[in-house]
Amino acid sequence: MKTLYKFLLAPGPTPLPEEVRLEGAREITHHKHPVAKKMFRKVTDDMKWLLGTKYDSYLLASSGSGAMETAVQNLINTGDKVIIINAGNFGGRWVKINKAYGANVVEIKKDWGDMATPAELEAVLKANPDTVAVFCQLSETSTGACSDTAGFAKIVSKTNAILVVDGVSGIGVVPLKMDEWNVDVVVGGSQKGMMLPPGMAFICMNEKAWKLVENNKQHKFYFDLKLFQKKLVDNETPWTPPIGIIYQADKAFEMMKAEGLENVWARSTKLAKGIRTAMKAMNLELFAKCPGDAVTTVKIPDGVDGKKVTSVIRDKYGITIAGGQGDFSGKIFRLGHMGYMDMYSELACLAALELTFKELGHKFEIGSGVSAFMKEMAQE
Ligand SMILES: *Cc1c(COP(=O)(O)O)cnc(C)c1O
Repeated sequence: MKTLYKFLLAPGPTPLPEEVRLEGAREITHHKHPVAKKMFRKVTDDMKWLLGTKYDSYLLASSGSGAMETAVQNLINTGDKVIIINAGNFGGRWVKINKAYGANVVEIKKDWGDMATPAELEAVLKANPDTVAVFCQLSETSTGACSDTAGFAKIVSKTNAILVVDGVSGIGVVPLKMDEWNVDVVVGGSQKGMMLPPGMAFICMNEKAWKLVENNKQHKFYFDLKLFQKKLVDNETPWTPPIGIIYQADKAFEMMKAEGLENVWARSTKLAKGIRTAMKAMNLELFAKCPGDAVTTVKIPDGVDGKKVTSVIRDKYGITIAGGQGDFSGKIFRLGHMGYMDMYSELACLAALELTFKELGHKFEIGSGVSAFMKEMAQE
C-alpha cells in the first residue's frame, strides 16, 4: 500500500509546526527597522527563558558548529590547556576545533555509547590544575548517551576553569539550567530542539567566561564576540542576522511558552521512554549504555543490512530517520525526539519501522512495538 504522509524523525534537522513555517513566508523587514530591532530584542530575551539565564545570547547566522567555533575562537588562546569529554562525533568536533586553534587538548575519551562521569572529570581536572576550559555535550547526538551536565558543572565551577556546553541537540529537549547549574558557556543551533529551520546559532556566556574573551588573542573577524556585544546595546548585530528565522523563533517561543518548558522536557522524556520500550518489544537492543531522552540509538540486529533500514523506511514509507555516524554507519540507527514531535509522529515511525524490519528479515511479532509504545502512553 502506498503511504502518503512524510515524517522527519532524524535527530536534526527536525520538523516545523505549521505556525512556524508560515512565519517564514513573511516579507523580510530590514534588520535596522525599529520593528525588526524590537523583534530581535524580544527573541534575545526569550533565549534567557530557554537557557535559564540572566545573560544575553548572541545570535549568529550559522549552523551549530559555527557557534562551537565561536566559543573556541573567543575563549581559548593558543597553548591553553582544555579538557574535552569525547564520547562521540560531537565530542570529537570539540577536539578538532580546539586543535585548529592550537589548544593543548586533554581528552577524556570514552567508547561510543558510553559517557564520562563527573567523578572522572574531577580526577582529570585535579591532575590538570592549569586547565582553562572543559568542553562537553548536553546530549551526544551520535550515540544518544545521557550526559550529566549539571554534575560536570558542579565540579568545574569549583575551579578556575569554565564549562562550555554544546547544547545543540539538547536545548528545548532535555533540562538545562545555565545559571542554577553554574554553566559558563552554552552554544546551540536552531534546527534541533527549537522547532526552527537550520541557519541560526547562538552563544551565551556568563561573567567568568567573558573575562577570558577580554584576554583572548586569537585572530578573528566574523565571530568576534566583542563586536556582537557592542552591537547588541542597540539591538543590532555586526552582520546581517537571519531575519526570517528570528521571526519564526518568536512564534516557536510563543508555542513553547504556552506549553511550559517543564512540559516540553516531559514530552521528550515520555516519548523517548515509549520508544525504548517499543524497541525492546521488537527484539532490538539499545546502543547507549545510559540512553538520553533527545535521541534513541538502536543496534542493527544480526542478519539485517543496516544501510537498508534507513533507505527502505524513507523510500517506501516516507519516514526519514538517521543511520550511525563514523564507524557506526550501518551498525546503528537513530531516532530523534526533538522539537515538534508528539505521540502521533512516533507512532507513525514505529509502524513503518516494524514493516521495514519485517521486510529485512528481523524476527519479532508485528505490532509488538506499537503496542508496547501505546501501553507506555497510557501510563500517567
Ligand atoms: C547537530 C549538532 C551540532 C552542530 O551541527 P550543525 O550541522 O553545524 O548544526 C553540534 N553538536 C551537536 C551535539 C549536534 O547534535
